[in-house]
Amino acid sequence: MRTFKLRIVGIIVIILVLLCGIVTYNIITNKKNNNSSANNKQEILHKVSEIGVKKDEPKYNKLREFKGENLIHNDKQIPVLMYHSIADNSMVTDTASKSIILPPEAFKQQMQYLKDNGYTTLTLDELYNFLKNGKPVPEKSVVLTFDDAYEDNYTNAYPILKEFGFRATIFVITGGTDKIGAYLTSAQLKEMDANGIDIQSHTVNHEELDKLSLKEQQETLVQSKQFLEKLLNKKVDYIAYPYGKYNNFTEQAAQNAGYTMAFTINNGWANKDTNILFLNRVFVNALKGFDQFKERLTNPNYQ
Ligand SMILES: [Zn+2]
Repeated sequence: MRTFKLRIVGIIVIILVLLCGIVTYNIITNKKNNNSSANNKQEILHKVSEIGVKKDEPKYNKLREFKGENLIHNDKQIPVLMYHSIADNSMVTDTASKSIILPPEAFKQQMQYLKDNGYTTLTLDELYNFLKNGKPVPEKSVVLTFDDAYEDNYTNAYPILKEFGFRATIFVITGGTDKIGAYLTSAQLKEMDANGIDIQSHTVNHEELDKLSLKEQQETLVQSKQFLEKLLNKKVDYIAYPYGKYNNFTEQAAQNAGYTMAFTINNGWANKDTNILFLNRVFVNALKGFDQFKERLTNPNYQ
């Protein structure tokens, strides 16, 4: 009787040990599976993002290497065209406002001209590489920039730029993003930045930098940069000074904030003999005709 009891106890102990073993084994393998499925997920995400980059690369990489004939080096200069709003201006009476609102038809005509005449629209990274590092670019190169980030840049300019496969840059007043209806939303900025339109800074509140101290300038330069970098998950290296204004502190402020290239509205083409933090731009005046556009695009010494 006693041995029988002992046997029963023995069997129960063995069963318990076996059960414990099975449970432990299950826990361990489960964990492993979870880990490997997490790894798989990461791997898949990684692959997807890689595919994404590769898919976009031929179309939207920001730094192309130009080869072949008809290249120019940085002893030459390049027109950096400055636009603002692309919209109907027929109801606008104020001359200054009207001059910066270019009707979409006129804009399209200009883009068509660039295409028909074999122009390459450079990104700012490419312009920087040309001016600073002496990398050659096509002889007929041009840079398209838009100041202030008006919503019509998305509704009117962006479809035309896409149609021609052109690169462009929008300088954003970050204080207006998602707050003022006339300006681009963060969703629009993100979409465009992912599709060939480079988003860069135009300060937080369109401050007149020439009236600000070094510290004040630095604040708006840094804050706008950080805002865009966080929003777009990229480095923001370039800025256009509001109204093209600056003072003796501006160079230091721009350097301290980490900008490597910046634009004024001083007339002329961009060239390496100008301080890279104070580059010229070509104003495309909506009140002037197509002939002035052609003149400014083709003659570095335009009036
Ligand atoms: Zn502006």
